[in-house]
Amino acid sequence: MSHETELGSRYGAVMMNAFGAPRRIFARGEGIHLWDADGNRYVDLLAGIAVNALGHGHPAVVAAVTGQLKTLGHISNFFASEPQIRLAERLSAAAGGGRVFLANSGAEANEAAFKLSRLTGRTRLVAMEGSFHGRTMGALAVTHTEKYRKPFEPLPGEVTFVPFGDAGALDAAVDETVAAVVVEPVQGESGVIPAPEGYLAAARELTTRAGTLLWIDEVQTGIGRCGELLLSRSHGVTADLVTVAKGLGNGFPIGACIATGRAADLLTPGGHGSTFGGNPVAAAAGNAVLDVLGGGLLEDVRRIGEWFASEITGLGCPEIAGVRGAGLLRGIVLTQEVAPQVVELALSEGWVLNAPRPDVLRVAPPLIITEADLAPFVTALPGWLERCNA
Ligand SMILES: *Cc1c(COP(=O)(O)O)cnc(C)c1O
Repeated sequence: MSHETELGSRYGAVMMNAFGAPRRIFARGEGIHLWDADGNRYVDLLAGIAVNALGHGHPAVVAAVTGQLKTLGHISNFFASEPQIRLAERLSAAAGGGRVFLANSGAEANEAAFKLSRLTGRTRLVAMEGSFHGRTMGALAVTHTEKYRKPFEPLPGEVTFVPFGDAGALDAAVDETVAAVVVEPVQGESGVIPAPEGYLAAARELTTRAGTLLWIDEVQTGIGRCGELLLSRSHGVTADLVTVAKGLGNGFPIGACIATGRAADLLTPGGHGSTFGGNPVAAAAGNAVLDVLGGGLLEDVRRIGEWFASEITGLGCPEIAGVRGAGLLRGIVLTQEVAPQVVELALSEGWVLNAPRPDVLRVAPPLIITEADLAPFVTALPGWLERCNA
């Protein structure tokens, strides 16, 4: 029995069946590569779902995390540390000035935003069809997918879902009883669907008019993934609440809710908390990621993302309907619902990606990837599509 098979059966016996059988059991990662338990090498085009921004084992992150752990690992939020303060200053600056709550995941960052929205004195929320905001009860309440929600109802209430990207529908749903509107700049889990041009700006305008908070979930799009620290800011929009997580710690769990304007002062002592949130090691990981992103990587992400999209489009494959997304968060839209089969075939040939929808391939590689690394994927894709459409 291979090591991989043996570990797979141990996994099946002891882990809760939340994720189905693991497709591979990985033993090691370095840069854009992963190795499974039997020693086979893969190119990682998923990066732990848009998480490992700097790839596996990035020296800056390893040095920051190990150095911080040796110096000061955890102290609780009765106390503070310099790395935490510095990270908050940088996140605040990225969001256009404000205050930061540090958490440990995307769902927790959104949970904080949800609770802040209640502190406005209003209770109604408006969320988007196709949205994904995480799996805790609050984050789930604003997540649209029926099969995620249904088994856990009743969820925290008074959420209205409107069609994503329809400014008229949003305008009709928002009035002075709505605490917040929550929206992703690109719906990642729904198949990498960008908000239409001008939609976020329209959302900003109509929420301001109603005294409603604009809560932008940049858990997937933020921290360099789309070639900007915050994609919404590059569209000229400053949210009242912005949440980030995935790319921030390069795999070290961390999330943040950043509040600007009057929302920055909603929280008072006792209103919310976290034992681990903002611990020095996670903060050091976040600072290391921001250091590297600031060294010219964001321009690379924009350039390589555009190059990749035009290469895929240029293939002229009859099986490809189009490419969407921004930076290095890309969805390759297929004409048939064969994305899961393509993912499986690619995996067997050493490429890791996923299918957020049956007709969409998601490519979200480490941001350190190059054109030369991606070129063999572009070359191989038509063959996989042909075999899966046969
Ligand atoms: C992944 C994701 C979340 C949830 O993050 P977790 O760290 O899994 O809790 C929330 N919002 C968006 C947009 C995401 O992509």
